[in-house]
Amino acid sequence: MSPPSKEHRMNSQEDSENLPQIISTTHKSLLTILQNARTRNILPTPDTLSRAVQSLPSHLPPHGQGLSQTTEHLLHDIAPAVSSSSLSSRYFGFVTGGTTPAARLADYLVTTLDECLAVRIPADTIATDVENRALTMLAELLHLNQTNPDGSAVWTGFFTPGSSTSNLYGIACGREHVLRVREAPLSGSVGIRAACEAAGLPEIQILCSMGHPSIMKAASLTGLGRSAVKQMGLPSRPWHLDVRRVQHEIQRTDCASIVSVSLGEVNTGKVGITADELKQLRQLCDRYQAWLHIDAAFGVFINALPDNSEFQSLKEIAQYICLGDSITGDGHKLLNVPFDCGFFYIRDSTRLKDIFSIPKPDFPRFAIPPVYFLGGPANPTDVGIQNGRRFRALPVYASLTAYGRSGYEDMLVRQTRLARGIAAYVWDHPVYELLPRLPGIEKKDEVLQTIFILILFRAVNPSLNESLLVRINETGKMYAQGVVWEGQKAVRCAIANWAVDVKDDLAIVTEVLGSVAAKWEAGEKMRSRL
Ligand SMILES: *Cc1c(COP(=O)(O)O)cnc(C)c1O
Repeated sequence: MSPPSKEHRMNSQEDSENLPQIISTTHKSLLTILQNARTRNILPTPDTLSRAVQSLPSHLPPHGQGLSQTTEHLLHDIAPAVSSSSLSSRYFGFVTGGTTPAARLADYLVTTLDECLAVRIPADTIATDVENRALTMLAELLHLNQTNPDGSAVWTGFFTPGSSTSNLYGIACGREHVLRVREAPLSGSVGIRAACEAAGLPEIQILCSMGHPSIMKAASLTGLGRSAVKQMGLPSRPWHLDVRRVQHEIQRTDCASIVSVSLGEVNTGKVGITADELKQLRQLCDRYQAWLHIDAAFGVFINALPDNSEFQSLKEIAQYICLGDSITGDGHKLLNVPFDCGFFYIRDSTRLKDIFSIPKPDFPRFAIPPVYFLGGPANPTDVGIQNGRRFRALPVYASLTAYGRSGYEDMLVRQTRLARGIAAYVWDHPVYELLPRLPGIEKKDEVLQTIFILILFRAVNPSLNESLLVRINETGKMYAQGVVWEGQKAVRCAIANWAVDVKDDLAIVTEVLGSVAAKWEAGEKMRSRL
């Protein structure tokens, strides 16, 4: 950036006169980015990155650069150096998802209006009503719209900044629940130590199988401690909860339990439980006053796949997600709305209120009284960690309205078929090995049935396996993620983008995997001749 020539005020006449031009230039650039999404480099080139790094100001400028010049800088220096992780249908790192066109447009509106959703004042704004409608439509999509005998909804939903926060809510509600059912005072009021003492509980444990790292964070934040998290996976399938061990632990009288089910597990994508085990777990949690949390950040979307034999075995399990006491789901992954958006569904939302609402006398006095929990929808600040909140429900609302059930079904079918298509190719290819090994499941078709949107594989030959990820990613045609599985490197692909095109993307991915294998084999032949 060149040195500033003059002072730039935020409310300058010049900026407001230039605004139409600046917005129009920006829109053109954004449109170009979107139109080239399929061909844009997945990662910026090293040159583009270093140019962008050079362009960053080293200090706060005493006088600003002004709106025009800053916009130029953002569009020409910064934007090209940002990856296409959300734009490319072949970015398979983490589980990122993209942003559907409807969600994107809504998000522009959210930023432009920039309303704060801390309290619910229906006379002032439609926003919290839109939010509640988005949550009920989402519950319908995911088949979490069961009703009680009195007609009320079983599930109350809340938006969060992401699944990590949803997991924090799940563990915190579990903590409060196991204490309250043992007649402890609110730990939010008296503190965790006094509440545990009153309940006669030296310990509260969290039982899981390869729980997402955010479960550890939740344990740390809720005062239970990371050491409270106990891995209860089967030795041969560590992502799969060993319900017999859980049964043993949950009966302990010196300890209360929160069970957190990984549905699906984030390394393997596998559903870490069977339908019968989940039903059994529900009974155990009822009998021993434990809390059942389901971390279904991406797995909850299995419920939105169509009912047919192709997805039957996954759906058979996932339909029992509704046996949980609380459920984590992610918006910015498979729902394909912008970051930061997660959601949390809970049966008994007073648990959230126990944790987050501040007793009335401590509350600052509002000139217009916000709507409290009088049977109506919650006041957001009373049921979540945030006070000031983005209107993150609008992109969800827009995307569900624009595409409906069939639009999301179609997207999830494409994503699952691409994952299974890649898995089938890997399975058949002698150079590669599909992971994880599934004891007792030998047939290709049965293995493919266990796959949702995530696959794991490695090269059989250890020396190729060492460099496999680099060889794949340096093609620039797809981006996979490296993980360590059973002590060895492995490659993980999570298919989460709405723009997936099964035929085109599968052709490109198999071409990449095929050429990586062929090049390596040719190199081996050369070496053996020397
Ligand atoms: C991604 C993920 C999380 C964390 O979600 P964020 O939205 O990144 O905070 C938690 N659990 C599982 C199973 C996940 O896949």
